Amino acid sequence: MSNILQLKRVIKEKCTVSYEYRVEGKWLKYFNLNESFFITYPFDISDVPDSILTVPFVCNFLPAIWLCDAKAVIPSIDKDFYEQIDNIKKGYMDMYPMLEFKGVLEVKEVLTNNESEDGGSALLFSGGVDAYTSLIRHINEKPLLATLWGPDVDIDNEAGWSKVKKGIMETADDFDLEFIPIKTAMKKVINEPCLTGLVSASKDDWYHGFQHGIAIISHMAPVAYKKGLSKVYIASSFPAYAKGTYTCASDPTIDNYMKYCGCSTIHDGYELDRQQKIHYIVEEKNKHNYKVRLHVCWESDGGENCCHCEKCYRTVIGIVAEGENPLNYGFNWSGKNIKVMKKDFKTKLVIPENRINTRYIIPQTIMKENIHKLTNAKDYKWFMEMDFSRFNRYFLKLLYNSKVARKIRNVTSKIK
Ligand SMILES: [Zn+2]
Repeated sequence: MSNILQLKRVIKEKCTVSYEYRVEGKWLKYFNLNESFFITYPFDISDVPDSILTVPFVCNFLPAIWLCDAKAVIPSIDKDFYEQIDNIKKGYMDMYPMLEFKGVLEVKEVLTNNESEDGGSALLFSGGVDAYTSLIRHINEKPLLATLWGPDVDIDNEAGWSKVKKGIMETADDFDLEFIPIKTAMKKVINEPCLTGLVSASKDDWYHGFQHGIAIISHMAPVAYKKGLSKVYIASSFPAYAKGTYTCASDPTIDNYMKYCGCSTIHDGYELDRQQKIHYIVEEKNKHNYKVRLHVCWESDGGENCCHCEKCYRTVIGIVAEGENPLNYGFNWSGKNIKVMKKDFKTKLVIPENRINTRYIIPQTIMKENIHKLTNAKDYKWFMEMDFSRFNRYFLKLLYNSKVARKIRNVTSKIK
């Protein structure tokens, strides 16, 4: 039996859209049909056309449709989006030449929904370094801040989400912006480990390498329609110069083709690396007296930065390298944390080999250059003296209690 996905009905109930669909064929194992696929917006969506509401449904499954050579039967879809599907697919094909992207979308009606000429903009906002950089770069446009509850914080984790939400609402208040929280079951409805197995040849995992970019951006289609947006920004996570050394579902060669109802997507900040972004945030913060509440960490369920995972460390190091105090950037950071960090660096830190340059070697160079700006340079002497060329060979020493480390371990064990 061939692989089929049929969207039977788009159900609109006030702020929530849900989808009734049927899956057939061997690829059934990649779906979790026990969970309902719903998305809840902070506004009534009953007047949003089905052809717009179908965009997030299609995007969440599109890479699987291609990789499983499936046929998707869709009643209607937005024309701007439909016309870009081949370009989006090409982005994936260029990134993953070891995989075959086939599949077909059978659409009954392609509809024009151009509502947003010269409209406003929105930014997909997590609170991290990349998102803050894009926020400050486009602050004059007063972008809406949109955050998905579902990808990073599980939709069952109410307590974790309420803390993340509180942090982002504070940022929205700091900059006088509207906040759009979007609750989505996008991760619940797939069998993620099984899909990661499907793409093992890529050496990336499903969510990071295949799902998240277009799935997240597509959730903005109903927002664009309702708010008359002409631009959605998604912050880059890799710098342009690293092209070819990484794979990631969110890439300019994919994201920049995402369009719907007259609204375009911009993969923002690609020309900057992480340290350049931190430098920019520091400069702008000091120039305009901005409040910066970075939220980089998904380790603690509490929603605040845990101050002892790799992501917290790399951000703290980047801030210190610019001569700043992490306390002023959302990290509850003290001398005690520095001691623990030093021990972790020497014994059990996980850093993928292709990230060591942007995460640590560049900040180390900058920290040495800025040593006169550091108030406690002696506390970081060990970091400035670390030999990362040697460290590279030992990066597989694992921080076992870290969720991120477990993920990386899964990937690296496949690489070996
Ligand atoms: Zn952390």
